[in-house]
Amino acid sequence: MISPSLRLRRSLPLCLLKMLQHTLAREITHTGVGLHSGLSTQVRILSAPPGSDRYFVRVDLPGNPIIPAQVTSVNHTVLSTQLGHEEANVRTVEHLLAALAAMGIDNARIEIDGSEVPLLDGSAQDWAQSIVQAGIVNQSVSPNTPIKAIREPIWVREGDSFVCALPASENRFTYGIDFELPAIGNQWYSWSPSTDIELARTSFKTEIAPARTFGLLHQIEHLQQAGLIKGGSVQNALVCSSQGWLNPPLRFANEPVRHKILDLVGDLSLLGTFPCAHFLAYKASHNLHIQLALKILERL
Ligand SMILES: [Zn+2]
Repeated sequence: MISPSLRLRRSLPLCLLKMLQHTLAREITHTGVGLHSGLSTQVRILSAPPGSDRYFVRVDLPGNPIIPAQVTSVNHTVLSTQLGHEEANVRTVEHLLAALAAMGIDNARIEIDGSEVPLLDGSAQDWAQSIVQAGIVNQSVSPNTPIKAIREPIWVREGDSFVCALPASENRFTYGIDFELPAIGNQWYSWSPSTDIELARTSFKTEIAPARTFGLLHQIEHLQQAGLIKGGSVQNALVCSSQGWLNPPLRFANEPVRHKILDLVGDLSLLGTFPCAHFLAYKASHNLHIQLALKILERL
């Protein structure tokens, strides 16, 4: 005889079967330069109790203010995603948060001694590897924890750019980009984390986490003249010109679109546990990702 709870579980989409939360077994520390500020900061990630979610702590500010890693904390989305609470901000959170969420770390206290997360090599590879090295601890979760799923399409657009969340039986992230520079051109990639958490971690670590930030040479010169992206360099970002890549080799032929998926995963992690959906984006930005997340929050 099938128990009522098992029957209910069988009728739910695969991605709704989350029965455990996870945190880190040991702390992680990384130090490096922020892409926009050019300043060095140290990040220390510690375990946190079940139900505490992911949150930043500005340990350099009086009173050590807490900034929840939630979509309602977003206060700036130009070139990166910034979170804030009252006077305290933390910028370029997307790669670190993508790694934590995709590696299944639900609860984490992220201490930082400055206003921007280090860019490291421009990808989430170091964060993902450190999570594996630190170890992951299972935490029990209340069986009454509400499970969210997208029941009808939710979308936002701006010109020919859009991001949407479509009903699906398991999570999937699909992205398209289209650049005039021939070295990038039109690229599409689709990534679905397995419902088996170990397989999901491995696929994130190998398919998405290594994809680095990229920039266009003519835009980089303009941004640097305007005093922006002070920490950007050929060591932490792929740079493309009309002649091709300035700093090959690429880690994947389609590294740019994979990086866009990394950004999308990081931005949507601000919803907490990913709602069950197929997230599909085309030529989007942090701003559109966050607009979609806000719309999802409103509807669910
Ligand atoms: Zn990025």
